[in-house]
Amino acid sequence: MSLPTPRSDLTELSGYHSPQLDVEVRLNTNESPYAPPPEFVASWLDQLRDVPLHRYPDRGAVELRGALAARAAQPAERLFCANGSNEVLQTLLLTYGGAGRSALVFEPTYALHSHIARITGTRVVVGDRTDDFAISPTEAGVLIGAERPAVVFLCSPNNPTGTVDPRATVESLLSSVLDHGPGLLVVDEAYGEFADWSAVELVADDVPLVVVRTYSKVWSLAALRLGFGVGPAAVVAELEKVVLPYHLSAATQLAGITALRFDQQMRGRVDALVSERHRLSAELARIPGLLVYPSGANFVLLRFEGDGHALWERLVGAGVLVRDFSRWPRLENCLRITVGTADEDDRLLAVLREAVTKEQQRA
Ligand code: PMP
Repeated sequence: MSLPTPRSDLTELSGYHSPQLDVEVRLNTNESPYAPPPEFVASWLDQLRDVPLHRYPDRGAVELRGALAARAAQPAERLFCANGSNEVLQTLLLTYGGAGRSALVFEPTYALHSHIARITGTRVVVGDRTDDFAISPTEAGVLIGAERPAVVFLCSPNNPTGTVDPRATVESLLSSVLDHGPGLLVVDEAYGEFADWSAVELVADDVPLVVVRTYSKVWSLAALRLGFGVGPAAVVAELEKVVLPYHLSAATQLAGITALRFDQQMRGRVDALVSERHRLSAELARIPGLLVYPSGANFVLLRFEGDGHALWERLVGAGVLVRDFSRWPRLENCLRITVGTADEDDRLLAVLREAVTKEQQRA
């Protein structure tokens, strides 16, 4: 039997690596530790009964886009919705990337930006972050001038480092894109609600900027797969041409609209997670041998002075799963911990203190 081979430019690709192990405490995928409010689930299911399931869903997701637009203080024509923010990113690259074009990423950052770029045949250009994971607007400007990328990705707060790019950096990159364009600046704000500012306020029809957000984290709806982009109406119109028709199910659209009615509960959870992040970071910083990076997200990155992978294995052995970045370039011996409930975090801290001590004794 001979099976066809995939496209030759895909042979080097490996899939998404985040093991889903069966452990007691899962702090590895930056989900919310809280289930969505039961009133939300009840209301969604009630309305679902009346959905005409023999009909295709609203292709333009008009009501959902309208509701999101009102919340973002933007016109509905600037909203694009899809199955998770990953599908928004994929549609952006299918539309603006491709053969003969490039996408610029600043490493270390969210791996899916370069992964989806490669899948769409877009050449990846890598810029470096500084030692504290910031982006130098001057160096970025030089790179944008030299490479003229079709798409420039920023991730703020950045996964996995937690770094928040200041408004001045976003504005500086925007002006570099405008000077050397035509290109598009994409700011991935999957964790935007945990930070203290959003680039959504910079979106306008004559600005080459798209801000991407998701329901997966703050709305506790990772299982739903709903994300959205806010950008110029003309860009949204192009994305709509590329994305598959009827890609967003009626159930998803309805959940998205209904969730917005629970805004207050959501904001309460964000506040709780931000204060828990402060507590967790402070406790982690007290453990000798760990360097804890500042975070504006619902996770914290740390660097261990010893063997980070061995430390990760000890945590898994004790029933706590965090994300192992210890062998990633620029992230040697780093682990990323999703902020959980206070109980989960206490468990992590206890296990981590012991694991660090044992690793230090072994070394
Ligand atoms: N962007 C970033 C920076 C992320 O960390 C994630 C989730 N890990 C996503 C996008 C994708 O989220 P989703 O597709 O669930 O909306």
